[in-house]
Amino acid sequence: MNTIDKFNEHIMQSYGRYPLVMQKGEGRHCKDENGKEYIDFGSGIGTNSLGYCDEKWADAVCAQVRTLQHSSNYYYTAVQAEFAEKLCEVSGYKKVFFGNSGAEANECAIKAARKYSFDKYGKGRHNIITLVNSFHGRTIATLSATGQDVFHNYFFPFLEGFVNVTANDIDDLKAKLDDTVCAVMLEYVQGEGGVNALDKEFVDAVYSLCAEKDVLVIADEVQTGVGRTGKFLAGDHFGKKADITTLAKGIAGGVPMGACLFGEKCENVLTPGTHGSTFGGNPIACAGGLAVLDRITSDGFLDEVSRKAEHFKERLSKCSEVAALSGLGLMIGITLKSKKAGDVAKAALDKGLLVLTAKEKVRLLPPLTISDSEIDEGLDILIDILEE
Ligand SMILES: *Cc1c(COP(=O)(O)O)cnc(C)c1O
Repeated sequence: MNTIDKFNEHIMQSYGRYPLVMQKGEGRHCKDENGKEYIDFGSGIGTNSLGYCDEKWADAVCAQVRTLQHSSNYYYTAVQAEFAEKLCEVSGYKKVFFGNSGAEANECAIKAARKYSFDKYGKGRHNIITLVNSFHGRTIATLSATGQDVFHNYFFPFLEGFVNVTANDIDDLKAKLDDTVCAVMLEYVQGEGGVNALDKEFVDAVYSLCAEKDVLVIADEVQTGVGRTGKFLAGDHFGKKADITTLAKGIAGGVPMGACLFGEKCENVLTPGTHGSTFGGNPIACAGGLAVLDRITSDGFLDEVSRKAEHFKERLSKCSEVAALSGLGLMIGITLKSKKAGDVAKAALDKGLLVLTAKEKVRLLPPLTISDSEIDEGLDILIDILEE
Protein backbone atom coordinates (compact mmCIF):
# COMPACT_ATOMS: atom_id res chain seq x y z
CA MET A 1 0.00 0.00 0.00
CA ASN A 2 1.34 3.45 -0.80
CA THR A 3 1.61 6.24 1.75
CA ILE A 4 -1.57 8.05 0.75
CA ASP A 5 -3.62 4.83 0.85
CA LYS A 6 -2.17 4.01 4.28
CA PHE A 7 -3.17 7.47 5.49
CA ASN A 8 -6.67 7.05 4.18
CA GLU A 9 -6.93 3.63 5.76
CA HIS A 10 -5.50 4.42 9.19
CA ILE A 11 -5.47 8.14 9.89
CA MET A 12 -8.58 10.03 10.98
CA GLN A 13 -9.69 12.03 7.95
CA SER A 14 -9.76 15.40 9.73
CA TYR A 15 -7.64 17.28 7.20
CA GLY A 16 -8.10 18.16 3.58
CA ARG A 17 -4.67 17.30 2.19
CA TYR A 18 -2.87 17.96 -1.08
CA PRO A 19 -1.70 14.75 -2.81
CA LEU A 20 1.94 15.31 -1.88
CA VAL A 21 4.08 12.96 0.18
CA MET A 22 6.79 15.08 1.76
CA GLN A 23 10.10 13.30 2.10
CA LYS A 24 13.00 15.63 2.75
CA GLY A 25 13.83 19.25 3.21
CA GLU A 26 16.92 21.42 2.97
CA GLY A 27 17.00 25.16 3.41
CA ARG A 28 13.98 26.72 1.71
CA HIS A 29 13.30 23.67 -0.49
CA CYS A 30 11.69 20.32 0.08
CA LYS A 31 11.22 17.19 -1.99
CA ASP A 32 8.34 14.78 -2.33
CA GLU A 33 8.71 10.99 -2.55
CA ASN A 34 9.12 11.18 -6.33
CA GLY A 35 12.04 13.58 -6.04
CA LYS A 36 10.05 16.58 -7.24
CA GLU A 37 11.38 19.76 -5.63
CA TYR A 38 9.33 22.61 -4.17
CA ILE A 39 10.22 26.01 -2.79
CA ASP A 40 8.29 26.48 0.43
CA PHE A 41 6.61 29.87 0.93
CA GLY A 42 4.69 28.47 3.92
CA SER A 43 7.55 27.32 6.22
CA GLY A 44 5.55 24.17 6.89
CA ILE A 45 2.86 26.34 8.42
CA GLY A 46 4.91 29.16 9.88
CA THR A 47 6.79 26.55 11.90
CA ASN A 48 10.10 26.01 10.09
CA SER A 49 11.25 29.55 10.80
CA LEU A 50 14.88 28.82 9.87
CA GLY A 51 13.89 26.70 6.87
CA TYR A 52 14.33 22.92 6.63
CA CYS A 53 17.02 21.20 8.66
CA ASP A 54 19.13 24.29 9.31
CA GLU A 55 22.56 22.99 10.24
CA LYS A 56 23.09 24.73 13.59
CA TRP A 57 19.50 24.08 14.62
CA ALA A 58 19.78 20.39 13.65
CA ASP A 59 23.09 20.06 15.51
CA ALA A 60 21.56 21.57 18.66
CA VAL A 61 18.46 19.35 18.47
CA CYS A 62 20.47 16.17 17.74
CA ALA A 63 22.98 16.88 20.51
CA GLN A 64 20.08 17.26 22.95
CA VAL A 65 18.44 14.02 21.75
CA ARG A 66 21.68 12.22 22.56
CA THR A 67 22.06 13.87 25.98
CA LEU A 68 18.63 14.03 27.62
CA GLN A 69 15.43 13.77 25.59
CA HIS A 70 12.97 14.38 28.39
CA SER A 71 12.75 14.88 32.09
CA SER A 72 9.66 15.29 34.21
CA ASN A 73 8.79 18.80 35.34
CA TYR A 74 9.37 17.57 38.91
CA TYR A 75 13.05 18.22 38.12
CA TYR A 76 15.08 21.05 36.61
CA THR A 77 17.01 21.04 33.33
CA ALA A 78 19.70 23.51 32.27
CA VAL A 79 18.42 23.78 28.70
CA GLN A 80 14.90 24.83 29.83
CA ALA A 81 16.45 27.40 32.18
CA GLU A 82 18.64 28.79 29.43
CA PHE A 83 15.82 28.97 26.91
CA ALA A 84 13.50 30.68 29.40
CA GLU A 85 16.18 33.19 30.36
CA LYS A 86 16.88 34.10 26.76
CA LEU A 87 13.17 34.22 25.84
CA CYS A 88 12.41 36.59 28.74
CA GLU A 89 15.43 38.73 27.89
CA VAL A 90 14.48 39.06 24.21
CA SER A 91 10.75 39.58 24.81
CA GLY A 92 10.95 41.72 27.95
CA TYR A 93 8.65 39.38 29.89
CA LYS A 94 9.12 38.17 33.48
CA LYS A 95 8.01 34.55 33.41
CA VAL A 96 7.16 31.83 30.96
CA PHE A 97 5.07 28.65 31.03
CA PHE A 98 6.00 26.08 28.40
CA GLY A 99 3.49 23.85 26.61
CA ASN A 100 3.57 22.11 23.25
CA SER A 101 1.30 24.04 20.91
CA GLY A 102 -0.46 27.31 20.24
CA ALA A 103 -3.78 26.10 21.61
CA GLU A 104 -2.10 25.02 24.84
CA ALA A 105 -0.34 28.37 25.18
CA ASN A 106 -3.73 30.07 24.78
CA GLU A 107 -5.37 27.68 27.27
CA CYS A 108 -2.70 28.72 29.74
CA ALA A 109 -3.37 32.41 29.03
CA ILE A 110 -7.14 31.94 29.50
CA LYS A 111 -6.67 30.10 32.80
CA ALA A 112 -4.14 32.65 34.03
CA ALA A 113 -6.35 35.64 33.15
CA ARG A 114 -9.34 34.12 34.96
CA LYS A 115 -7.23 33.27 38.00
CA TYR A 116 -5.66 36.74 38.09
CA SER A 117 -9.13 38.25 38.22
CA PHE A 118 -10.50 35.69 40.68
CA ASP A 119 -7.58 36.17 43.07
CA LYS A 120 -8.08 39.94 43.05
CA TYR A 121 -11.81 40.46 42.59
CA GLY A 122 -13.52 37.11 43.30
CA LYS A 123 -16.18 35.46 41.13
CA GLY A 124 -18.17 37.00 38.27
CA ARG A 125 -15.38 38.60 36.32
CA HIS A 126 -14.52 35.68 34.07
CA ASN A 127 -15.49 36.89 30.59
CA ILE A 128 -12.84 37.28 27.93
CA ILE A 129 -13.39 39.49 24.91
CA THR A 130 -12.11 38.04 21.64
CA LEU A 131 -12.44 39.44 18.14
CA VAL A 132 -14.65 38.44 15.25
CA ASN A 133 -12.56 36.44 12.75
CA SER A 134 -9.96 35.50 15.33
CA PHE A 135 -8.41 32.05 15.55
CA HIS A 136 -7.08 30.76 18.85
CA GLY A 137 -6.92 26.98 18.50
CA ARG A 138 -8.80 23.68 18.35
CA THR A 139 -9.36 22.68 21.98
CA ILE A 140 -12.83 23.30 23.39
CA ALA A 141 -11.74 26.44 25.27
CA THR A 142 -9.76 27.92 22.39
CA LEU A 143 -12.51 27.02 19.88
CA SER A 144 -14.94 28.80 22.20
CA ALA A 145 -12.60 31.79 22.19
CA THR A 146 -12.33 31.75 18.39
CA GLY A 147 -14.64 34.40 16.96
CA GLN A 148 -15.84 32.51 13.88
CA ASP A 149 -19.22 30.77 13.74
CA VAL A 150 -17.93 28.05 11.39
CA PHE A 151 -15.92 26.64 14.30
CA HIS A 152 -18.93 26.53 16.62
CA ASN A 153 -20.55 23.32 15.42
CA TYR A 154 -20.89 19.68 16.54
CA PHE A 155 -18.96 19.91 19.79
CA PHE A 156 -21.59 21.48 22.03
CA PRO A 157 -21.66 22.73 24.65
CA PHE A 158 -18.87 25.22 24.10
CA LEU A 159 -17.30 27.04 27.02
CA GLU A 160 -19.09 30.04 28.43
CA GLY A 161 -17.35 33.31 28.99
CA PHE A 162 -16.24 34.55 25.60
CA VAL A 163 -17.72 37.72 24.12
CA ASN A 164 -16.92 38.74 20.53
CA VAL A 165 -16.15 42.29 19.47
CA THR A 166 -15.82 43.36 15.84
CA ALA A 167 -12.15 44.06 15.08
CA ASN A 168 -11.38 47.78 14.82
CA ASP A 169 -14.82 48.78 16.18
CA ILE A 170 -14.01 50.87 19.27
CA ASP A 171 -17.69 51.53 20.09
CA ASP A 172 -18.43 47.79 20.10
CA LEU A 173 -15.46 47.29 22.42
CA LYS A 174 -16.62 50.04 24.79
CA ALA A 175 -20.13 48.60 24.90
CA LYS A 176 -18.93 45.10 25.81
CA LEU A 177 -16.02 45.90 28.12
CA ASP A 178 -18.11 45.76 31.32
CA ASP A 179 -17.49 44.58 34.90
CA THR A 180 -17.74 40.91 33.91
CA VAL A 181 -14.60 41.07 31.76
CA CYS A 182 -11.14 39.97 32.93
CA ALA A 183 -9.24 40.10 29.64
CA VAL A 184 -9.22 41.10 25.99
CA MET A 185 -7.49 38.62 23.71
CA LEU A 186 -6.31 39.64 20.24
CA GLU A 187 -4.03 38.83 17.33
CA TYR A 188 -2.28 42.00 16.09
CA VAL A 189 -2.50 40.45 12.65
CA GLN A 190 -5.29 37.90 12.32
CA GLY A 191 -3.71 34.93 10.59
CA GLU A 192 -6.26 32.21 9.80
CA GLY A 193 -8.92 34.93 9.74
CA GLY A 194 -7.42 36.43 6.57
CA VAL A 195 -4.08 38.16 7.33
CA ASN A 196 -5.68 41.33 8.63
CA ALA A 197 -3.64 43.73 10.78
CA LEU A 198 -5.56 45.63 13.45
CA ASP A 199 -5.76 49.43 13.22
CA LYS A 200 -3.38 51.25 15.52
CA GLU A 201 -6.26 53.35 16.95
CA PHE A 202 -8.13 50.20 17.90
CA VAL A 203 -5.08 48.65 19.60
CA ASP A 204 -4.50 51.94 21.45
CA ALA A 205 -8.14 51.93 22.59
CA VAL A 206 -7.90 48.32 23.82
CA TYR A 207 -4.85 49.12 25.93
CA SER A 208 -6.16 52.36 27.41
CA LEU A 209 -9.64 50.99 28.21
CA CYS A 210 -8.15 47.82 29.72
CA ALA A 211 -5.67 49.80 31.83
CA GLU A 212 -8.54 51.86 33.32
CA LYS A 213 -10.35 48.72 34.47
CA ASP A 214 -7.42 46.44 35.34
CA VAL A 215 -8.51 44.17 32.49
CA LEU A 216 -5.62 42.12 31.07
CA VAL A 217 -4.55 42.22 27.43
CA ILE A 218 -3.64 38.82 26.00
CA ALA A 219 -1.76 38.93 22.69
CA ASP A 220 -2.01 35.70 20.71
CA GLU A 221 1.30 35.90 18.85
CA VAL A 222 1.33 32.21 17.98
CA GLN A 223 1.62 33.16 14.29
CA THR A 224 2.99 36.73 14.47
CA GLY A 225 5.66 36.17 17.13
CA VAL A 226 9.34 35.26 17.07
CA GLY A 227 10.42 37.54 14.24
CA ARG A 228 7.69 36.78 11.70
CA THR A 229 6.70 40.44 11.27
CA GLY A 230 10.22 41.90 11.36
CA LYS A 231 10.11 42.60 15.11
CA PHE A 232 10.51 39.95 17.79
CA LEU A 233 6.86 40.49 18.72
CA ALA A 234 4.23 42.10 16.48
CA GLY A 235 3.22 44.19 19.51
CA ASP A 236 6.50 46.08 19.02
CA HIS A 237 5.05 47.57 15.81
CA PHE A 238 2.24 49.05 17.89
CA GLY A 239 4.48 50.13 20.77
CA LYS A 240 2.51 47.81 23.05
CA LYS A 241 3.34 45.02 25.44
CA ALA A 242 0.45 42.76 26.44
CA ASP A 243 0.13 41.47 30.01
CA ILE A 244 0.24 37.96 28.56
CA THR A 245 1.65 36.93 25.18
CA THR A 246 1.41 33.47 23.65
CA LEU A 247 3.89 31.97 21.18
CA ALA A 248 4.14 28.69 19.28
CA LYS A 249 4.45 27.86 15.53
CA GLY A 250 7.96 29.14 14.65
CA ILE A 251 9.34 29.33 18.19
CA ALA A 252 11.42 26.15 18.07
CA GLY A 253 12.05 25.88 14.33
CA GLY A 254 9.66 22.99 13.71
CA VAL A 255 9.69 20.94 16.90
CA PRO A 256 6.53 21.21 19.02
CA MET A 257 6.65 24.03 21.55
CA GLY A 258 4.26 26.62 22.90
CA ALA A 259 5.02 29.38 25.38
CA CYS A 260 2.88 31.67 27.48
CA LEU A 261 4.74 34.81 28.56
CA PHE A 262 3.76 36.83 31.63
CA GLY A 263 4.55 40.46 32.42
CA GLU A 264 4.81 42.12 35.85
CA LYS A 265 1.08 42.03 36.61
CA CYS A 266 0.65 38.27 36.40
CA GLU A 267 4.11 36.96 37.00
CA ASN A 268 3.03 35.00 40.08
CA VAL A 269 -0.51 34.08 39.06
CA LEU A 270 0.03 30.35 38.48
CA THR A 271 0.97 28.62 41.73
CA PRO A 272 2.06 24.98 42.32
CA GLY A 273 -0.61 22.54 41.19
CA THR A 274 -2.68 25.04 39.17
CA HIS A 275 -1.25 24.21 35.75
CA GLY A 276 1.09 21.74 34.11
CA SER A 277 2.06 19.75 31.03
CA THR A 278 3.94 16.46 30.79
CA PHE A 279 5.94 17.47 27.73
CA GLY A 280 6.01 21.22 28.41
CA GLY A 281 9.55 22.60 28.32
CA ASN A 282 10.83 19.40 26.74
CA PRO A 283 14.65 19.59 26.43
CA ILE A 284 14.69 18.83 22.67
CA ALA A 285 12.15 21.58 22.00
CA CYS A 286 14.09 24.00 24.22
CA ALA A 287 17.33 23.21 22.37
CA GLY A 288 15.56 23.95 19.07
CA GLY A 289 14.13 27.14 20.53
CA LEU A 290 17.54 28.31 21.68
CA ALA A 291 18.94 27.81 18.17
CA VAL A 292 16.05 29.86 16.76
CA LEU A 293 16.54 32.69 19.28
CA ASP A 294 20.29 32.74 18.66
CA ARG A 295 19.69 33.29 14.96
CA ILE A 296 16.84 35.76 15.26
CA THR A 297 18.72 37.95 17.72
CA SER A 298 21.89 37.97 15.60
CA ASP A 299 22.93 41.34 14.23
CA GLY A 300 20.60 42.76 11.59
CA PHE A 301 18.48 39.57 11.26
CA LEU A 302 15.11 41.21 11.92
CA ASP A 303 15.94 44.20 9.69
CA GLU A 304 16.58 41.69 6.92
CA VAL A 305 13.14 40.15 7.55
CA SER A 306 11.58 43.60 7.00
CA ARG A 307 13.68 44.28 3.94
CA LYS A 308 12.76 40.94 2.39
CA ALA A 309 9.10 41.67 3.09
CA GLU A 310 9.49 44.83 0.98
CA HIS A 311 11.00 42.74 -1.81
CA PHE A 312 7.87 40.56 -1.80
CA LYS A 313 5.58 43.59 -1.76
CA GLU A 314 7.39 45.43 -4.50
CA ARG A 315 7.06 42.59 -6.96
CA LEU A 316 3.56 41.49 -5.94
CA SER A 317 2.11 44.99 -6.06
CA LYS A 318 3.04 45.20 -9.75
CA CYS A 319 1.14 42.01 -10.57
CA SER A 320 -2.07 42.73 -12.48
CA GLU A 321 -4.08 40.02 -10.67
CA VAL A 322 -3.25 41.39 -7.19
CA ALA A 323 -6.06 43.57 -5.82
CA ALA A 324 -4.45 44.28 -2.44
CA LEU A 325 -1.70 43.17 -0.09
CA SER A 326 -2.11 42.85 3.67
CA GLY A 327 -0.17 41.70 6.70
CA LEU A 328 3.06 42.69 8.38
CA GLY A 329 6.63 41.62 7.57
CA LEU A 330 6.90 38.08 6.23
CA MET A 331 3.23 37.42 6.98
CA ILE A 332 1.68 38.35 3.65
CA GLY A 333 -1.93 38.21 2.50
CA ILE A 334 -2.73 38.56 -1.21
CA THR A 335 -6.25 39.54 -2.27
CA LEU A 336 -6.89 38.41 -5.83
CA LYS A 337 -8.99 40.15 -8.46
CA SER A 338 -10.57 37.19 -10.23
CA LYS A 339 -8.76 33.97 -9.33
CA LYS A 340 -9.55 31.74 -6.34
CA ALA A 341 -6.86 31.32 -3.67
CA GLY A 342 -7.38 27.54 -3.49
CA ASP A 343 -6.91 27.21 -7.26
CA VAL A 344 -3.75 29.29 -7.11
CA ALA A 345 -2.35 27.11 -4.29
CA LYS A 346 -3.05 23.96 -6.35
CA ALA A 347 -1.50 25.39 -9.51
CA ALA A 348 1.55 26.52 -7.50
CA LEU A 349 1.99 23.02 -6.08
CA ASP A 350 2.02 21.59 -9.62
CA LYS A 351 4.74 24.05 -10.57
CA GLY A 352 6.91 23.46 -7.48
CA LEU A 353 5.85 26.21 -5.10
CA LEU A 354 4.09 25.75 -1.75
CA VAL A 355 1.78 28.56 -0.60
CA LEU A 356 -0.94 28.78 2.06
CA THR A 357 -4.39 30.31 1.97
CA ALA A 358 -6.41 32.21 4.58
CA LYS A 359 -10.09 32.79 3.85
CA GLU A 360 -10.20 34.21 0.29
CA LYS A 361 -6.53 35.22 0.27
CA VAL A 362 -3.29 33.57 -0.73
CA ARG A 363 -1.12 33.62 2.39
CA LEU A 364 2.68 33.56 2.48
CA LEU A 365 4.71 32.74 5.59
CA PRO A 366 8.14 32.09 4.05
CA PRO A 367 11.08 30.96 6.19
CA LEU A 368 12.69 33.98 7.85
CA THR A 369 16.01 32.85 6.39
CA ILE A 370 14.85 33.01 2.75
CA SER A 371 17.28 34.70 0.35
CA ASP A 372 16.47 37.27 -2.33
CA SER A 373 17.12 34.80 -5.13
CA GLU A 374 14.83 32.26 -3.47
CA ILE A 375 12.13 34.91 -3.14
CA ASP A 376 12.45 35.60 -6.86
CA GLU A 377 12.45 31.90 -7.69
CA GLY A 378 9.09 31.45 -5.91
CA LEU A 379 7.59 34.73 -7.08
CA ASP A 380 8.42 33.94 -10.72
CA ILE A 381 6.22 30.85 -10.36
CA LEU A 382 3.48 32.59 -8.38
CA ILE A 383 3.23 35.68 -10.60
CA ASP A 384 3.18 33.50 -13.75
CA ILE A 385 0.20 31.63 -12.33
CA LEU A 386 -1.55 34.82 -11.26
CA GLU A 387 -1.10 36.48 -14.65
CA GLU A 388 -1.93 33.37 -16.69
C1 LIG B 1 -1.94 28.29 14.63
C2 LIG B 1 -2.55 29.20 15.61
C3 LIG B 1 -3.06 28.73 16.84
C4 LIG B 1 -3.14 27.26 17.18
O1 LIG B 1 -1.88 26.68 17.31
P1 LIG B 1 -1.73 25.08 17.42
O2 LIG B 1 -0.24 24.88 17.61
O3 LIG B 1 -2.26 24.50 16.16
O4 LIG B 1 -2.51 24.65 18.59
C5 LIG B 1 -3.54 29.65 17.74
N1 LIG B 1 -3.52 30.96 17.47
C6 LIG B 1 -3.04 31.45 16.31
C7 LIG B 1 -3.01 32.93 16.09
C8 LIG B 1 -2.54 30.59 15.34
O5 LIG B 1 -2.09 31.07 14.18
